[in-house]
Amino acid sequence: MIAKIEQLLKEVEAMHASNAEELEALRIKYLSKKGAINNLMADFRNVAAEQKKVVGMKLNELKTIAQDKINALKEQFENQDNGCDGVDLTRSAYPVELGTRHPLSIVKNEIIDIFARLGFSIAEGPEIEDDWHVFSALNFAEDHPARDMQDTFFIESHPDILLRTHTSSVQTRVMEASQPPIRIICPGRVYRNEAISYRAHCFFHQVEALYVDKEVSFTDLKQVLLLFAKEMFGADTKIRLRPSYFPFTEPSAEMDISCNICGGKGCPFCKHTGWVEILGCGMVDPNVLDANGIDSKIYSGYALGMGIERITNLKYQVKDLRMFSENDTRFLKEFEAAY
Ligand SMILES: [Zn+2]
Repeated sequence: MIAKIEQLLKEVEAMHASNAEELEALRIKYLSKKGAINNLMADFRNVAAEQKKVVGMKLNELKTIAQDKINALKEQFENQDNGCDGVDLTRSAYPVELGTRHPLSIVKNEIIDIFARLGFSIAEGPEIEDDWHVFSALNFAEDHPARDMQDTFFIESHPDILLRTHTSSVQTRVMEASQPPIRIICPGRVYRNEAISYRAHCFFHQVEALYVDKEVSFTDLKQVLLLFAKEMFGADTKIRLRPSYFPFTEPSAEMDISCNICGGKGCPFCKHTGWVEILGCGMVDPNVLDANGIDSKIYSGYALGMGIERITNLKYQVKDLRMFSENDTRFLKEFEAAY
C-alpha cells in the first residue's frame, strides 16, 4: 500500500499538461470518483489496524498534493488564456482627459499674435544671466537697488551670475549681436527675490518689445500702445501715459488703460479711479544703444514691457497669483473655452 502511494506521489509531482484538455484528463485519472487516489481510499479498509494511522496520513497527503498541483496547472492556463496576467480586457477603458492650455500661455500667445501682426519677431534668451546683460548694459547705476540681494537671486559663489529679473536682458543680447532695424518681442519667465503671497511671487512672466531704427519717435510708441490696448481689451479701450522713470529708457512712461471691468466708471478693481496700470515703456536711453554697439547718433528706439500675470488678471480677474503655478486642474479647466 505504502509503495503504491509513493508511486502515485511521484506521478502526481511529475504531472504536466500543455492544454486544458490534458489537464482535465489528469484530473479524471487521479482525482475523480473512479480515479487512482479514490481507488486507494477504497483499499484503505484492508490495511492492517496498526498501519492505518501512517497509511491514512500518507493518503491524505497525496490527495492534497494532487489537488494543489491540478489547481496550480489550472491557474497557469487561465492566465495564459488572455495573455495579460489577469487583466480583464473586456472592461471599458479609463476615460482620457484632454488637457487645456494654461491661462498665461493663452494670454502670452495673444500678445505675441498682436505684435507679430505689426512685424515683430520673437527673441529668447537664457534665464540664468550675468550682471552685464541684466543691469550694466541697460544703464543701471552701480548702486541701483535692483542689484541688491533683497531684490535679485544671485549665485552665492559667483555674484556675477543671477536669475534674470526682467526680459530686457534679451534686448541687450539681440542689440549686441545685430544692427537695426530691430523689431523684436521677448516673452519669458523672470525671477525676483520676493516673499510669495497672493499678489507677489518669486517668478512671473513678462513680454517686452523693442524697436530700433532710424527716426523712431515717441509717436510711434504711442500708436503701437493704443493699437495693442484696443486689440487686447476691446475697441472702446482708452489709454493714458504717465511720466515715470526706468534706467534704460528716457523719457519713460507708464501706461494705464480704462478699467475693462467697470468700463471706466470706477470699481474696487481699479480702486474707483476708472484706470488700471498695465505696462512700462519709453524711448531707449542713448546710453543703452551705445553700450550695446548701436550708434545713438543715427538710431533711436522704443521699448515696452508688461507682466503676463497682470494682463491675465485684467482679462480673467484671477485674485490670487499663486493659482497660476499650482497646477490645480479645476482652475486650469476654467480657461478651456478661452482659446
Ligand atoms: Zn474699474
